[in-house]
Amino acid sequence: MSKIVAPPPFLKSAAKAAAKPIEVVKERSMLLQKQMLGDLFHDLTTAKDTGRKVVYTFVPGNLSELILAFDMLPVYPEINALQWGMRKKSGSLIRDAEKYGYSEDVCTYVKCDVGMFLNGNIGPTGEKLPPPDLLLLSYTGCFTFLKWFENLQKLYPGVPTAMLHTPYAADGVITEDMVKYMVRQLEEDVIPKMEMVSGKKFNPEKLSKHLEYAVESEDWIVKMFDLTKQVPSPIDAYFAGVYYIGPINAGFRGAESAVEYYHQLYLEVAERAAQGRPPVTPEGELEEERFRLVVEGPPNWTHFREFWKLFYDMGAVVVASSYTKVGGYFDGGFRHDPDNPLESLARYCMGCYTNISLPERVNMLEKFITDYKADGFLINSIKSCNSFSAGQLLIMRELEQRLGVPVSFIESDLVDPRYFSYANIKNRLDSFFQMMDQRKQVGGRHQFGQRPHDSASSQKRSLLLPVLQQEAMV
Ligand code: SF4
Repeated sequence: MSKIVAPPPFLKSAAKAAAKPIEVVKERSMLLQKQMLGDLFHDLTTAKDTGRKVVYTFVPGNLSELILAFDMLPVYPEINALQWGMRKKSGSLIRDAEKYGYSEDVCTYVKCDVGMFLNGNIGPTGEKLPPPDLLLLSYTGCFTFLKWFENLQKLYPGVPTAMLHTPYAADGVITEDMVKYMVRQLEEDVIPKMEMVSGKKFNPEKLSKHLEYAVESEDWIVKMFDLTKQVPSPIDAYFAGVYYIGPINAGFRGAESAVEYYHQLYLEVAERAAQGRPPVTPEGELEEERFRLVVEGPPNWTHFREFWKLFYDMGAVVVASSYTKVGGYFDGGFRHDPDNPLESLARYCMGCYTNISLPERVNMLEKFITDYKADGFLINSIKSCNSFSAGQLLIMRELEQRLGVPVSFIESDLVDPRYFSYANIKNRLDSFFQMMDQRKQVGGRHQFGQRPHDSASSQKRSLLLPVLQQEAMV
């Protein structure tokens, strides 16, 4: 009998269906994550009895450390929606929101959240979530965030709202004036409202302590994802990566428990890397890493297992993805700064993936393809995410032009099962894998990723630059 590490818990039933009998060993990091999230949901369901105050907020540009400094509990509606999607129950919530008046084109995270409200605010664990005591809108890049919170204000009348407006980092530069603008909002609006709701005075030392924990977690996360540069990659940085980033996206970034979790996770992934072992999939350890991919866009949550299977059946491993950076992009060197707490919260928000411009996103993806020795680049475009679907074809063509890397484009949705077409996606992916296979036979492995980055020649070949200049965006 072979012995294998368990896949992430949400894939348990697929693991049971694996052909070979396996003895599943849960890694310590999985137990830690389960405990952390279980404790959070328990605290939320008992919040009204214990007097803990509840903040509804968003993942990109989240102010986790500030929320922890006030001993408040966060609720992230996107996390609830994706968990409903993975449990295959988001479809009926979306339909309820549409019956209530929301159009088919509205972001399905929003409709899932509204549908949840209409059905008694029962969370994905089956327990009732408490209503918010504070709506904290940290606005980074997506206009839907604003409209979503306008709707939450109507659903929860009288609940105070704090808005932190993040200036758009159009040219990738964060100026001192932009930082001051954000710090002023934190001092004059966000923190006073948190003091009022929590009944606690703001304690800068407590915030700094949480920022110290955040820095430690960020270091381990970067080191862990860096290991996927190795061939074969020890983990899939997308399908497993979304599970690994769960704690920092669910409010634990500045918590001591997150430091323990990410340190432990790093040790486990480093051990796999040292042994030269490929990723664990829902059906056991991958036999051979045949294709290394960089992916832009979130995964489809409603058909997550079927979606992943389309990749691992072909030996395709995602070695880097933009989606695992939506809760914070730390690979580029940014870390929270305990000595300058509010300034560092401001800089964190402005550097979020959702707040950076299209040219900056292209540069980031180009670096991923090169540094992680990718054989191909794939976009999973989200039907109902108008914010990030715009410009994706241009991103793809630009990267193809700059690097000569095989590219492909598929479409699905986050949590609306009506937009997952297995046959269409499989057809596109099959052609993509064939294309990469042929390129590798002709040119050998990693010929694209090894091409040195030359920004001057990249610009000469750029498709993006003339379009943006025409649109007066640069
Ligand atoms: S970024 Fe996309 S998925 Fe997220 S709230 Fe905006 S529209 Fe919805």
